[in-house]
Amino acid sequence: MSLSRRDFLERAAALTAAGFVPRLPDDFGHELGHMATPAVPMPGFRGRPLVVSSSNGLKGVKVAYDKMLTGEDPLDAVIAGVNLVELDPSDQSVGLGGLPNEEGVVQLDASCMHGPTRRAGSVAAIEGIATPSLVAKAVMDYTDHVMLVGAGATKFAKAMGFKEQNLLTEQSRQDWMRWKSRLNANDAWLDHDENLKIKFTTGTINMNAVNASGDIGSVTTTSGMAWKVPGRIGDSPVIGAGQYCDNLVGAAGSTGRGEANIKTCASFLIVEFMRQGLTPEAALIKTLERVVAMTEARLLGPNGRPKFDLEFYALTKDGRYAGATLYSGGKYAVCDEQGARLVEAAYLYKRG
Ligand code: ASP
Repeated sequence: MSLSRRDFLERAAALTAAGFVPRLPDDFGHELGHMATPAVPMPGFRGRPLVVSSSNGLKGVKVAYDKMLTGEDPLDAVIAGVNLVELDPSDQSVGLGGLPNEEGVVQLDASCMHGPTRRAGSVAAIEGIATPSLVAKAVMDYTDHVMLVGAGATKFAKAMGFKEQNLLTEQSRQDWMRWKSRLNANDAWLDHDENLKIKFTTGTINMNAVNASGDIGSVTTTSGMAWKVPGRIGDSPVIGAGQYCDNLVGAAGSTGRGEANIKTCASFLIVEFMRQGLTPEAALIKTLERVVAMTEARLLGPNGRPKFDLEFYALTKDGRYAGATLYSGGKYAVCDEQGARLVEAAYLYKRG
């Protein structure tokens, strides 16, 4: 039986999702494994192209979807989708206008993966560049490395022609000053408004896409935790934590408390669970259970549940998807042939 590489990958994905481990074709045209069963859509098959992201990507998923319809690569498509949010000064969790670290400096993290070529790129604690997702892709495209950090990342971005700019908007600067003045009752900063609510960011955008022929891309970009210790790196730039994709299986990504995600390599784990045959939703819930099991005591409430939230998003090569959060009430964005919409996320615990 002769199979094209594409046919093989399609079949391998269906079998993989059903729990089989395929023999991989190599690049020299050796035997392509023993695939007797034709690819059949798995239960829950929704179709491709498909884009899934955190809820702040509602506009971006449509941009990514439309780009894939015109033949754009799935990674380029999702990066265009998250660029919208990176460049939006009113989103204070990503890119331009992101809330700064404790010294008032905006430090950004991002990573991406390209399924068909099995490549990845990442930047962490980068300053002065509004679109770290594109810098992460430049690391992937133009260097022999996967991850650049801090001053080196900014220097690289400038050498690649990215424009350096001040990312601290007036709104974010004011929020930082308010946070600072409330830090310590005995500090030298006067409190002006007792009732003022101090922002503590949750945010980040993760976006994953599979195109009509089953190729996958994933990206995550963020300004990280507000008021963080300078140099703190979250989960977003960590391949396997902030996002992960395997072109034979699917992709996954995360938003929420990065420290909890890093310890479970959650995006990698989700993809591995899907490889073993779990549905996207089951894979997300099982990974949330792992997060709870790995949570240190100081972060658990009296009921044994985490005091933080974490959100996961996943899609499979055959076009199934899910979003799940630790606590109920979460939503995530999807775009397929039915258009862009917010969908209720599955959850581990009912809120309240
Ligand atoms: N995951 C991000 C981080 O820990 C923050 C977030 O998504 O709210 O850097």
